Amino acid sequence: DLVDPTAQSEAEIAFEGALRPRSLAEFVGQRKVRGQLQLLLDAAAIQDRTPDHILLAGPPGLGKTTLAMIVAQETGRPLRMTSGPAIQHAGDLAAVLSALVPGEVLFVDEIHRMARTAEEMLYLAMEDFRIDIMVGKGAGATSIPLDLSPFTLVGATTRSGLLPNPLRDRFGFTAHLEFYETEELIEVLRRAAALLGVPIGEEALLEIASRSRGTPRIANRLLRRVRDFALVDGGGASVEAVRAALDLYDVDELGLDRLDRAVMTVLLKRFDGGPVGLNTLAVSVGEEADTIESVVEPFLVRIGLISRTPRGRVATRAGWAHFGLSRGQDALF
Ligand code: ATP
Repeated sequence: DLVDPTAQSEAEIAFEGALRPRSLAEFVGQRKVRGQLQLLLDAAAIQDRTPDHILLAGPPGLGKTTLAMIVAQETGRPLRMTSGPAIQHAGDLAAVLSALVPGEVLFVDEIHRMARTAEEMLYLAMEDFRIDIMVGKGAGATSIPLDLSPFTLVGATTRSGLLPNPLRDRFGFTAHLEFYETEELIEVLRRAAALLGVPIGEEALLEIASRSRGTPRIANRLLRRVRDFALVDGGGASVEAVRAALDLYDVDELGLDRLDRAVMTVLLKRFDGGPVGLNTLAVSVGEEADTIESVVEPFLVRIGLISRTPRGRVATRAGWAHFGLSRGQDALF
């Protein structure tokens, strides 16, 4: 699915690498977070110490990995990357931590998916740059303390609420990334088009940006498809080419992806617009509640198609209108 913010192929990872901003100044949008990060890095530089641990929270594709790389780049420190699912045991984490060089930036993507035992080890590591390694079993078990090099942990999570409090509290700063405004996405696209050598007009940029689900990763991906279309069609990246290319790939005017549409369809048709609970919605579309809550719902709320109420999720008037339906009309299921 072209507008799925979570899916990523090998080709796309390489492509993203080429388009990734390398400094905070080059990073588009997220003005607040940029300012906060800049201050944190500047203060650490003045005192010549490792910057505080940073938690980046927000839906996929908004630039968490990019920001982690920028933190390393801006401070001139090496970067090591791993992810929560790769840390199945405390030992996995011990291996990563003990290999860090002084000042290294450690990026842990999807940090909420780390093993519990590793989480506990991480508390001490973050606080005191020290871990206790357990050796042996039963009555003969002992723990051996191990000093670590000072490091900066940059954790990424789709929702900071998924982290246990003791872990969340040990980050000096939590950056909440927001979906991008259309204007900001235009800037992301203009930069990417220049890097890719794709001549493209303002109107065409606006058309792509407004269908990009508020997400730079998707904007760049759509640009690539438009570039292909223009190449084959021979007519350049005009606004007509954008419309034709995106229609070909079923990207609607709001940039809703398959799962967004599935959730909306179930909410409107099966539950007559709600209210309906998150878990019921998730089961109805065959997805995990967590994915609905951290990937799908934030965007649908942001563009005003659904709202959250104490009794559950409800479709808004705009939600009904976007799908050309009205309440009570369609109890077809
Ligand atoms: P995930 O949570 O899935 O790891 P992410 O939030 O880490 O996603 P990135 O991989 O950092 O997202 O960003 C995806 C792509 O979007 C990057 O390769 C980059 O080209 C582009 N991008 C993200 N944020 C910006 C930005 N602020 N300015 C310009 N380009 C951006």
